[in-house]
Amino acid sequence: MVAEDVATNRFGRPIATRFPPEPNGFPHIGHLKAIALNFGIAREFGGRCNLRFDDTNPTTEDVKYVEAFKTDLTWLGYQWDAELYASDYFEKLYAFAELLVENEKAYVDSQSEPQIRQTRGTVTTPGTDSPYRDRTVDQSLELLRRMRAGEFPDGAHVLRAKIDMAHPNMVMRDPLLLRIRHKHHYRQGDNWCIYPFYDFAHPLSDAIEGITHSLCTLEFKDNNDIYKWLVRECGFVHPPEQTEFSRLELDYTLFSKRKLLRLVNEGFVAGWDDPRMPTIAGARRRGVTPEALIAFVESAGVSRKPQRTELATYEHAVRDDLNMRVPRVMCVTNPLKVVLTNYPEGQVEELDASYYPHDVPKTGSRKVPFSRELYIERDDFMEDAPKKFFRLAPGREVRLRYGYFITCTDVVKDAKGEIVELRATYDPATRGGDSPDGRKVQGTIHWVSAPHALDAELRLYDKLFTIPDPDAVEEGEDFVSVLNPESLVVVKGAKIEPSVANDPAGTRYQFERTAYFISDAIDSKPRALVFNRTVTLRDSWAKIKNK
Ligand code: ATP
Ligand code: MG
Repeated sequence: MVAEDVATNRFGRPIATRFPPEPNGFPHIGHLKAIALNFGIAREFGGRCNLRFDDTNPTTEDVKYVEAFKTDLTWLGYQWDAELYASDYFEKLYAFAELLVENEKAYVDSQSEPQIRQTRGTVTTPGTDSPYRDRTVDQSLELLRRMRAGEFPDGAHVLRAKIDMAHPNMVMRDPLLLRIRHKHHYRQGDNWCIYPFYDFAHPLSDAIEGITHSLCTLEFKDNNDIYKWLVRECGFVHPPEQTEFSRLELDYTLFSKRKLLRLVNEGFVAGWDDPRMPTIAGARRRGVTPEALIAFVESAGVSRKPQRTELATYEHAVRDDLNMRVPRVMCVTNPLKVVLTNYPEGQVEELDASYYPHDVPKTGSRKVPFSRELYIERDDFMEDAPKKFFRLAPGREVRLRYGYFITCTDVVKDAKGEIVELRATYDPATRGGDSPDGRKVQGTIHWVSAPHALDAELRLYDKLFTIPDPDAVEEGEDFVSVLNPESLVVVKGAKIEPSVANDPAGTRYQFERTAYFISDAIDSKPRALVFNRTVTLRDSWAKIKNK
């Protein structure tokens, strides 16, 4: 569509788009779809894209949300051509209001908003004219001026467009344009006591900025008529045109800012940047990269068909991106000690360990210490192991990644019968993980040297809701009732290899065989490491077991 408009020079000016968030919450992955689309089109066609805060509602907006949008857009790599505020157009909007009244295209109605709603009619029946609809231009103009001057209380009057109370599109039945609200605005202070409705502010803000393509989500489809009407009646030549696309909807996720705000305010999450939140700040803290987020929303495509995206699609995009960029290190989530009875006491070797597998076009390695006492993953040992369990079991041999082959010889239990330690022997001829005699082992497991390992806290994040569409809770039920009680599981006492000790907070890793993690930008300290799980790897044994 845009390419065709460029080819025909339809607007007589370069392509101009805008991203118009209301600063009443943090930007989320749903917003990113609109961001990628608007900035992407401007970039593709050599146009410009404005960041315009749609800040026309004095009760819910705050400068901290403005800052969040700017911070996150910058982190995502988008650069806006202008930073604009719909509230800066209040004076211009007011001038348009007077123009419409003068042209008999608007009038001051003195019914209450509920009365106005009641007389709108229904989809099948026309509405009824307001008794104030026939006010003269002078009467309406005088009232409008006095509304602005603050002479009336909230709700005493509204400005309405004069269109058609029988219009088949309900939005066109004399829509409300301005209302009285004696409220402080976070940017305008107490300059104004009349505030514009969306249908008035949005099309005119676009037109004032010379936007060509006003892209918005499908729920504004019916508003397209008032959009067209308004920019025409206000005299714009080649006005912007609105085109709708379907919202991004993601399973197990909510994007409504009102609901997200409740999660924050009522402490269901730790804040807007809680790694479980679908916000950009949450994804960042969780370890997701800008590239993965953008690849994800772009892969969802742009269409007019409402659609939900599976969480697996999102996780796949996150994994795909991290797979190619982050180093692999070894961390044991749930440690089980292994003593190598034939390894010399006091001996420590520094083994070569590469950070990347062969299919990743990056290089780099570190040394990992190896000693007589190791930790392995409790899940990597099974006493009565079935045949297909390719890990450690009594009498079975496995490869320690970058290390040696070991064979389990004894299982040490406490009085209650719990396994507390394993005894094993290592084969000195298998250093580096190769067997000289061509002997095969089925499994390779990760490990850390017990005296060298660092303690780590792992924050294991999972989906925030238990049902795929948390917006669709049963009637009368609260959406917080479908919050997942296990969306955060904190593991203390994990053991990580010492090579990570000096990495700055916010470093991403793949913990071999378990998941991608990032050291928490805020809480991780050199002696108290904290890692957030970004996304798991696929667990092949879990798959077999579940079968
Ligand atoms: P909410 O109802 O949660 O407040 P909103 O759509 O009103 O959401 P805005 O801040 O007004 O939030 O949105 C700014 C822009 O982002 C709009 O153009 C809107 O259409 C777009 N947007 C918001 N959510 C999504 C989504 N899930 N998918 C695609 N675009 C979205
Ligand atoms: Mg909105």
